[in-house]
Amino acid sequence: MLCAYLNNGKIEIKDIEIPTLNDGDVLIKVKYALTDGTDLKTYLRGHYILKDGPFGHEYSGIVVETKNEKFKIGDEVFGINSAYCGNCKFCKQNRENLCIYLKDNIVVGAYAEYLKIPKLVADKNLFIKPEEISFKVAPIIEPLSCVFHGIEKLNLIGFEKILILGSGSIGIMFFLILKENFEVKIYSRSKKRIELLKSAPFYEELNNSFVQNYQGDYDVIIDTTGSFELLSEILKSLPKGSKILLFAGMEKDKFLTFNQSYFHYNEIDIISSFHQTPSSVKKAYQFLIKNHELLEYLITHEIELKDIILAFELMKEGKALKVAIFPSKL
Ligand SMILES: [Zn+2]
Repeated sequence: MLCAYLNNGKIEIKDIEIPTLNDGDVLIKVKYALTDGTDLKTYLRGHYILKDGPFGHEYSGIVVETKNEKFKIGDEVFGINSAYCGNCKFCKQNRENLCIYLKDNIVVGAYAEYLKIPKLVADKNLFIKPEEISFKVAPIIEPLSCVFHGIEKLNLIGFEKILILGSGSIGIMFFLILKENFEVKIYSRSKKRIELLKSAPFYEELNNSFVQNYQGDYDVIIDTTGSFELLSEILKSLPKGSKILLFAGMEKDKFLTFNQSYFHYNEIDIISSFHQTPSSVKKAYQFLIKNHELLEYLITHEIELKDIILAFELMKEGKALKVAIFPSKL
């Protein structure tokens, strides 16, 4: 089968054996895998956790082999890329996103013709796809769950104004979820990505929310950029009682500085969020069922697996939001 590999910042398509299954595992024929910022970052500069090798972790497909009694051949499925053990110290704190066994129960290699879903993921985080949800949009449940986890960590009770840093697909997801209950603005250096959504029903609202200047008057800041330069500026001008969510990772050799005294006397919260928990997956599932038509606009391109490099080049240049990679059309 064909599978995309990352190797020292280069993408190669290899012809490899179809994975074999152990007890509890499920094999799917991939219909679509969605690109995201994590994969783009891994491609451009490496990743804190993900190493070189097969990549891609947002997937949907059809079950073609199963050693798990929850599933049968022909089931249309989509899911999350990891599962938690339920017993470690973090799982006991309901912080399953930090489970110490996360790396042992992970789905990678979705940019391929076939994908193995390990037992624990199949048991906990592989779902039967409702008919009305397309194979193309279903994989978005994974980043959407991460977004809901970020929102849970923020605890927004009583807050009114939110500024989202970055206009990539994650920033837009935060916008779509939060705009119902808050005054939300998106701050980005360029409007390029927002222009990609011209045909979306929420385009006007999104466009009106775009700001190119940061005035320092937002109580809640959500950073989806991981930009050292931008955050260095923002940390100098957070208002009293505000909070900032660090949603995106930064290059690991970068260290931010801030004025401790100002942060203390003005009680400014720096909050981080990583990955997702069962509770945020549940919220993402419900949001997807209700809003799948809107979310589908975030997938701006469809590209065949053999041309996957083009997908990442388009993303790098800000000419694509999410790209749906398909192995081949039947
Ligand atoms: Zn655990």
